[in-house]
Amino acid sequence: MMRTLALLGATGSIGDSTLDVVAQHPERFRVAAVAAHRNWRKLLDVCRRFRPEFAALLDVASARELERALRQDGLAIRVGAGASALCEVATWSGADTVLAAIVGAAGLAPTLEAARAGKRMLIANKEALVIGGALFMDAARAGGATLIPIDSEHNAIFQCLPPAYARDPGSAGVRRLLLTASGGPFRLRAAADMASVTPAEACAHPNWAMGRKISVDSATLMNKGLEVIEANRLFGVAPDAIDVVVHPQSVVHSLVEYVDGSVLAQLGHPDMRTPIAQALALPDRIVINVPALDLIARGQLTFEAPDHARFPCLRLAYDALRGAPNAPVVLNAANEVAVAAFLDEAIGFCDIAGAVTAVLDATPPADVPSLDDALACDAAARRAACAYLKLPEGGATLSAAA
Ligand code: NAD
Ligand code: MG
Repeated sequence: MMRTLALLGATGSIGDSTLDVVAQHPERFRVAAVAAHRNWRKLLDVCRRFRPEFAALLDVASARELERALRQDGLAIRVGAGASALCEVATWSGADTVLAAIVGAAGLAPTLEAARAGKRMLIANKEALVIGGALFMDAARAGGATLIPIDSEHNAIFQCLPPAYARDPGSAGVRRLLLTASGGPFRLRAAADMASVTPAEACAHPNWAMGRKISVDSATLMNKGLEVIEANRLFGVAPDAIDVVVHPQSVVHSLVEYVDGSVLAQLGHPDMRTPIAQALALPDRIVINVPALDLIARGQLTFEAPDHARFPCLRLAYDALRGAPNAPVVLNAANEVAVAAFLDEAIGFCDIAGAVTAVLDATPPADVPSLDDALACDAAARRAACAYLKLPEGGATLSAAA
């Protein structure tokens, strides 16, 4: 059976890995629609190689450039621009599967649309789950969407759970989820040296090649905090039953502990193409060109507790998950502003946790009953983070070039 794909975030790191898997199996997968922020040259390359029916860019001027270049090439691919075009990609009727791989809160609206439209969804965009919360999960249920995580930890857990788990989690006998964390590039860095680390050092992840935002989140451990919230959303497991263990080799991607003492883990060479291929091909398995895991060459797998003193973001995320429904939205928004400012070299590394703490402390608890409420809460937290960090309002975004 041919699967048809809509790719949200087609020009990013997850977009690259997905297109690589797709290109290895043209008999199984066809790209029907693609979306990105403003990198029209890269999206043009994607269009030339994969010939989708529809291509969208958030940035209107870049979309015009793409349209002009496609016309010059004689390629009859429709081009859309703006936020509504991203939602068109998310609900494209010619696609049965949607890959949600926009970075940050910007992915929430199109991802929610895909859930409402009942798509088969491969989810990388963890921020959409963190801020969408119950709203997102209810929309997916009501729309009949199937959610398949491709974040490596959640994909590992998904693979370690019985197939009936989504229908009947209570009877599965799950006691605890264990998320592994590499510890990031500063795992062994002295606390006194952390304030002066540079964006280049923060983005030099020891095991994974990823986009810049998630790389910084991995360095602060906020990525693991967001993943704890993501696991709570996806698997309905309480915060007290989700633990984090630092595993510097990134070979064990996560584990599920059962009430009888069994612990199931998924292992593999750290390469995002593996979880993407698993999710794309489900229920089949497909051959892809990733290195095999050689345990003897690896020699040792080690595990340690996270250091909450040097990496306060992990605790902040647990507290936000246990707090009011607006707390994860605020946590994420303040973090996005602070990470963008750090990448712009406008603030230091430790200011990221400082800003998130300050904005969370200053925000009264509130409910988030609708998408509009989530977006308003996100916008207010961004303003508060800019004020705290003395940045011009709207000055720090994750726009980058992609
Ligand atoms: P990236 O920065 O490499 O790519 C981001 C993509 O989103 C690009 O295609 C960009 O054009 C698009 N984008 C950014 N802002 C946008 C906007 N406002 N509107 C529309 N499109 C926009 O990021 P990435 O590393 O590919 O990560 C994407 C998502 O996947 C993130 O949520 C990240 O946490 C998650 N994830 C990534 C990895 C990884 O290995 N890279 C692993 C697990 C989870
Ligand atoms: Mg992950």
